[in-house]
Amino acid sequence: MGARIGVVGSNMVDLITYIDRMPAAGETLAAPRFAMGHGGKGANQAVAAAKLGAEVMLVSRVGDDLFGGGTIKNFQDLGIDTKHVRAVPGTQSGVAPIFVEASGENRILIVKGANEHLLPADVDAAADDLKGCALILLQLEVPLETVYHTIAWAAGQGIPVLLNPAPAVPELDVGRILGASFLVPNQTELTILTGLPAETRDQAEAAARTLVARGIRQVLVTLGAEGALLVTADAAQHVPSVRVTPVDTSGAGDAFIGAFAQHYVAHGDTLEAMRWGARYAADSITRPGTQMAFATRAQFAG
Ligand code: ADP
Repeated sequence: MGARIGVVGSNMVDLITYIDRMPAAGETLAAPRFAMGHGGKGANQAVAAAKLGAEVMLVSRVGDDLFGGGTIKNFQDLGIDTKHVRAVPGTQSGVAPIFVEASGENRILIVKGANEHLLPADVDAAADDLKGCALILLQLEVPLETVYHTIAWAAGQGIPVLLNPAPAVPELDVGRILGASFLVPNQTELTILTGLPAETRDQAEAAARTLVARGIRQVLVTLGAEGALLVTADAAQHVPSVRVTPVDTSGAGDAFIGAFAQHYVAHGDTLEAMRWGARYAADSITRPGTQMAFATRAQFAG
């Protein structure tokens, strides 16, 4: 399928230290193991879609440091168009220092670094290439002005936008994201967006309805092990999850969105794309890691 997906978003390098316990202030401890991985919500969604065979272009920023070149090479190895992935002089790449205790408990810090330098003008510079996209994916690890600008520009071009409002940013101005065709929050993000509980499916539906009432056309709530819910002015439809034994649920939302996007641009059926996304996300959480847990089209039975 020739339909292209544009991703305007973040990339991060995960710096994962496995620890017996957190050191106290002033204390130095030896830790048993360290691992690095490619992450960032924009990058993860781009990688999931590309692994499934979609044509993907990414608009993103790296630092002029040790990590920048490796990050770009990772995208290129996966066939992602990196024409608009550039290094910002004098910045560090986005990193996520992650501490994992033996119990599995995680502590995660996000240092956005170069991602904070992805500006509206950079989207304008990529506009000629973004024009060829059938869908644009956005998240909130880059400046909000860039998100608002991309939505407004895409609306003017008639290009549908999927906004994943993650991580939840309380200052997000809902009035400036109404041009998005799909808003895809998880339950926590939906609560922060609306101020309403979203723990049960009924609560999530009621909260999503308030966003539809404000003018968002399609709210697609991911419900973890409960699957996903599509709420529009006409209906609320539920897609169940696939029962698996989770090993590592990090990146489940990104797997869902990347696969949803790949299926949607190829076939145009929202509910079918949700079912595909749910199957792909469930498969991904049966393996450790984020991008490395995302299956390729050949590996994914569907
Ligand atoms: P996030 O990772 O952003 O918190 P969710 O936890 O809602 O997002 O997960 C996204 C999607 O991944 C869900 O809609 C579901 O399809 C799938 N998923 C997540 N957790 C599970 C699980 N425990 N079992 C099966 N599928 C899951």
